Amino acid sequence: MTPTSIAVIGVGKIAQDQHLPVIAKDKRFALKALVSQRGIREAGVPTFHDLSELLASSVSFDAVAICTPPEARTDIARQALAAGKDVMLEKPPAPTVAEMNDLAGLAVAAGRVIFATWHSRYNAAVDEARKLLSGRKIRALHVEWKEDVRRWHPGQEWIWRAGGFGVFDPGINALSIVTTILPGPLFVAKAELAYPANRDTPIAASLAFSSSIAESAGSVLSAEFDWRQEGDQSWNIDITLDDGAALRLTHGGSKLWVGGTLVVDAPMQEYEGVYDHFAHLLERRESAMDSAPFQLVADASLIGRRVEVAAFDW
Ligand code: NAP
Repeated sequence: MTPTSIAVIGVGKIAQDQHLPVIAKDKRFALKALVSQRGIREAGVPTFHDLSELLASSVSFDAVAICTPPEARTDIARQALAAGKDVMLEKPPAPTVAEMNDLAGLAVAAGRVIFATWHSRYNAAVDEARKLLSGRKIRALHVEWKEDVRRWHPGQEWIWRAGGFGVFDPGINALSIVTTILPGPLFVAKAELAYPANRDTPIAASLAFSSSIAESAGSVLSAEFDWRQEGDQSWNIDITLDDGAALRLTHGGSKLWVGGTLVVDAPMQEYEGVYDHFAHLLERRESAMDSAPFQLVADASLIGRRVEVAAFDW
């Protein structure tokens, strides 16, 4: 089997922490180039300043993994598709939902594979939760995704610029889990978004949802995202089923508890799962562009009430 030759574009935190090590150990992929504005280097492969420079070179490759902040993603993806490359998109897949949908259409027209990754879905506990929820109604849902922005995004100014998503950058991971495990759609019914006085994106958000799989009109479905949590970090999803059974996903979706008993505790191997899925999509020449988590963030921004909170400085 010939490995898919791949270029990684945007060699920041997630590219260095996950994409490069996972590509290095997955025999179905071969790293052929990096594209890095800062000129980040990796032994044995050339680095180019931008995709145009790479395309103009003699390096031959099949696919790109776009690991830049979302604001740059669509233009790079369009250029890659037009050049006949298959495309993996870090999350969030584009700056706007319309652009994500446009990319999906462009990939079809170009006969290329495009994949919106949603890395948090690649956990054994998430798969098991999906099975347990299949065909069920839910009495309650609560997402608590609270972390310390200084610890996880040190110095990343783009998260505070319009289009940087603010606390929805991690929050969309929770929404990507919820939208894959629930057996029906969620809708944003109400949202309150807390913006630091000196920033363009929210530092916290409270969402209330409605859903056709809610047990009754009284079912409370909610999410709390907050970037101001110091000390212990909270990445939990609690679901009560219609028979009262309690499901709890903790540690970002890597542990599953049912009625207080730990039933799945698998090591986090999200990016191994992401590249495994990409390899299968490439083999079948299929794309995967689920916009459900992204649509919820867009809808929360559309109907959300804005409140101003204390200025944020690093
Ligand atoms: P980051 O550390 O800021 O890295 C992004 C890199 O993209 C930059 O270092 C830069 O690398 C390049 N870049 C920045 N602006 C660009 C632009 N305008 N055009 C082209 N390239 C640009 O950010 P990150 O944490 O890796 O996050 C990147 C994406 O991955 C985000 O969408 C994020 O949501 C997602 N993600 C992050 C994590 C995480 O734990 N940090 C986890 C999962 C997913 P070069 O100088 O090398 O070009």
